[in-house]
Amino acid sequence: MIRDAEDAKHSARMQEMGFPQGGMEELKKARGEITMHIKPQLLNRYQRVSTSYERVVVPVVHELCTGCLTKVPSSFRYEKNAVVACENCGRILYFI
Ligand SMILES: [Zn+2]
Repeated sequence: MIRDAEDAKHSARMQEMGFPQGGMEELKKARGEITMHIKPQLLNRYQRVSTSYERVVVPVVHELCTGCLTKVPSSFRYEKNAVVACENCGRILYFI
C-alpha cells in the first residue's frame, strides 16, 4: 500500500476513481508496528528480495509462483507454520 501510495501515477488514478489518497503517516506507523513482530530472519529475507522485485509476497496459482511462473513443489503447500519461498526467484509464497 505504501509503494502504491508513493507512486504518483497510481495515486492519481485511484483519486480519479474516487478512492481518497493519503494516510501515509498511518501506513508507515502501522508498518513499523508490524515489523516489530516479524522474525528478524524473515524480515531480512523480505528486505533482500525487495531489492530485486516490486512484489515480494506472491500467491501460488495452479502450482506456479506468480512472480516468475516457476512450478512450486506441491509439498510446499503442506508445510505447516513454515514460510516458504520460491526456489527460483526467492519470493515469499502463499497458497490460495
Ligand atoms: Zn518465483
